[in-house]
Amino acid sequence: MAKARVHIGRISDATDRESVIDKVIETLDGLAPAAQVIKSGSKVVIKPNLTADTRLWQEGIVTSPHTVEGVIRYVQQAGPSEIIIAEATACGLDNKKAFRENGFEEVASRTGSVIVDLYDEEFVSVPVRNGMAAKEIKVARRVMEADFLINVPTMKTHVATGVSLCLKNLKGVLPENEKRRSHFLGVNKFVTDLNSIVKPDLCVIDATVAMEGDGPMQGTPVHLGVLLAGTDPVATDIIATRVMGLDPWQFKCFNYARQQGLGVWNEADIALTGVPLDEVRREFHPASGPFPDVHGITLVDGGACPGCLDGVRTAIGRVKAAGLLDNLPPLTIVVGEKGVVTGENDVVVGRCLKRHRGKKHYVPGCPAQVFVISDELREMAGQYRLFGPKAQYLLHEGEDREN
Ligand code: SF4
Repeated sequence: MAKARVHIGRISDATDRESVIDKVIETLDGLAPAAQVIKSGSKVVIKPNLTADTRLWQEGIVTSPHTVEGVIRYVQQAGPSEIIIAEATACGLDNKKAFRENGFEEVASRTGSVIVDLYDEEFVSVPVRNGMAAKEIKVARRVMEADFLINVPTMKTHVATGVSLCLKNLKGVLPENEKRRSHFLGVNKFVTDLNSIVKPDLCVIDATVAMEGDGPMQGTPVHLGVLLAGTDPVATDIIATRVMGLDPWQFKCFNYARQQGLGVWNEADIALTGVPLDEVRREFHPASGPFPDVHGITLVDGGACPGCLDGVRTAIGRVKAAGLLDNLPPLTIVVGEKGVVTGENDVVVGRCLKRHRGKKHYVPGCPAQVFVISDELREMAGQYRLFGPKAQYLLHEGEDREN
């Protein structure tokens, strides 16, 4: 007998609020009626993905407020005591503005639910047993104390993790410093550890509008009109990755989940119901591409992983979009463990080159984060850093649990 079930629903018009709400309820009912899975009087926490503090939910960057409203209407059938929409968005963004700009205040007011900025609340240290990257992780108390936790990511490809779905969306229950730490201990291993301590009861992947290419922010919207619901985050993510036409086993996150015995990873153990997978599958462009041919920039690739290579490529794209390429001096970017650094001004990218951390332009992280690489390039082009001093990203380099 299958150990997990994933139900696939279809939504024809992502902009029609009432029809999205109806289809979300129908899809979740297809998995299980609310009263069967949520106890009456429960405190329910819903965690969307709000990785933008501008109005971008129709671009596949942010979970659709209509989808979240549908989830709330479904939950209300079970008679909960409270429904909270909670988020701690990406470092450097305005969490309250992210809710406001993307229509979540209206959702809360229409449904009687409450928006909680997790950054305003307490985070508690939770021990990780047999962690791959961390011994303990600070997590929002509100999330740990929920009676019923619902994870509602949007479907994206992602330059650092390959895909961003349920597993990755849980980074939004961490304080900022813990988010930074995750990248310097190895984001895929850290996310695996995080998912070993935070266990959503229900996962709803919003692919009404998804994203392909350079997600999480610079990809291309995909009007897929699909919703996936499951109770096991690993199983739900694996099926979502198949819907994206990608092989889950090329991504570290699923291999680590399997290695750690986290969730249902064996596809033979996952039962699919609802719309057949073949009817909704669409080949997504992965978050990877050739290195751009930019005059004056040389890449030295010492066997780098796609996460760092794509991080560098995307960062150059950001600097180009800011009109700063001409302000850069001729430069060499070294990436990958076997990369040879020859010049004092080489940009040295990634934690596996930590032996060069004394170099002026060393960029930490595993993989190195796009915004830290682009800030390094901005600084070299004579501009201010958008995401704060580099020192705060170097803090965690002393923690040598992994890699
Ligand atoms: S820092 Fe090194 S090991 Fe880590 S993702 Fe980048 S290239 Fe790979």
